Amino acid sequence: MKVIEHIQQAKETIVSFEILPPLKGKTISSIYDHLDPLMEFKPAFINVTYHRSETMFKKRSDGSFEKVEVRKRPGTVGICAAIMNHYQIDAVPHLICGGFGKRETEDALIDLHFLGIDNVLVLRGDAARNEASFNPEPGGNLYAIDLLKQVVGLNHGLYLEEDILNGSKTNFCIGVAGYPEKHFESPNLATDLMNLKAKVDAGAEYITTQMFFDNKKYFDFVKACRENAIEVPIIPGLKPITSKKQLSMLPKVFHVDIPADLSNAVMKCKTDEEVEKTGTEWLIQQCLELKKAGVPVLHYYTLGKPKVIWNVVKELV
Ligand code: FAD
Repeated sequence: MKVIEHIQQAKETIVSFEILPPLKGKTISSIYDHLDPLMEFKPAFINVTYHRSETMFKKRSDGSFEKVEVRKRPGTVGICAAIMNHYQIDAVPHLICGGFGKRETEDALIDLHFLGIDNVLVLRGDAARNEASFNPEPGGNLYAIDLLKQVVGLNHGLYLEEDILNGSKTNFCIGVAGYPEKHFESPNLATDLMNLKAKVDAGAEYITTQMFFDNKKYFDFVKACRENAIEVPIIPGLKPITSKKQLSMLPKVFHVDIPADLSNAVMKCKTDEEVEKTGTEWLIQQCLELKKAGVPVLHYYTLGKPKVIWNVVKELV
């Protein structure tokens, strides 16, 4: 079932989780171990992130170095199929522009279609580690909207090979990312919203937000979206603080603010357990307020911390 159908049919706020594929070399059971406890909350869907390859330098036996491209977390498509098969729950694979040509993307979409997966969250991806700004693959998609248009094209039976006439139409429900605190490359929120509106006008059916720790940022963002005629559901993305290190890491990596009340409370903690408890309590309060406001979905970034997420969600059911 499509994410948008889950939202339309729900009588109250639903729950969903996002997971990362395991590092190469691990088994699918690490995913099941992660998700099993969370299944009691009957999530409507599970998102699975997508990761580009990274350039690494491997030492040869003669001491020289060889440049190799390594994908540390492959398997998004396979994991989505496994989740649907194992739990009978909808999976939402993320698809990114970075590191993929249009042909590889089309092949991935065909695989997803054959597997009965009819959801995708389309993203641009970040710049490669060795690059200062985002560069697409030769002939690849530059922005999320370009990838989105490729998926919409396939939904209309348009394949890259123009000689495929009357091609089988896919039927993907397409989600996109939104940033309550603005995407870090955008000169201002108005421009970012204009680009977001373009994604919605091109066929995105819902928006999932970057994490935020102050609900006001989400509420203001939804208001600004509505004022800019962006009418699709806006799913809040949520994550608990679980370590002191995250107070500097999350703003650096995700370009989000951490409210002073939260950072002060975390700084006062004496143990990791205390930090987790503080982060859990903060997120519970965030979720209670969001639920009261009638958000369509509470979407949790589990990021290796399923127990903490379990502790949050159990307070809300
Ligand atoms: P875009 O929508 O393409 O926007 C990128 C920037 O370009 C923005 O500043 C935008 O305003 C600007 N822009 C857009 N269109 C145009 C245009 N036509 N002209 C000029 N400027 C334009 N990354 C991964 O690698 N894998 C994942 O699985 C993943 N999952 C994510 C899930 C969520 C919910 C979120 C919020 C982010 C996720 N990311 C993931 C990170 C994401 O790839 C980065 O934030 C990336 O920098 C931007 O992606 P986007 O899809 O928002 O890009």
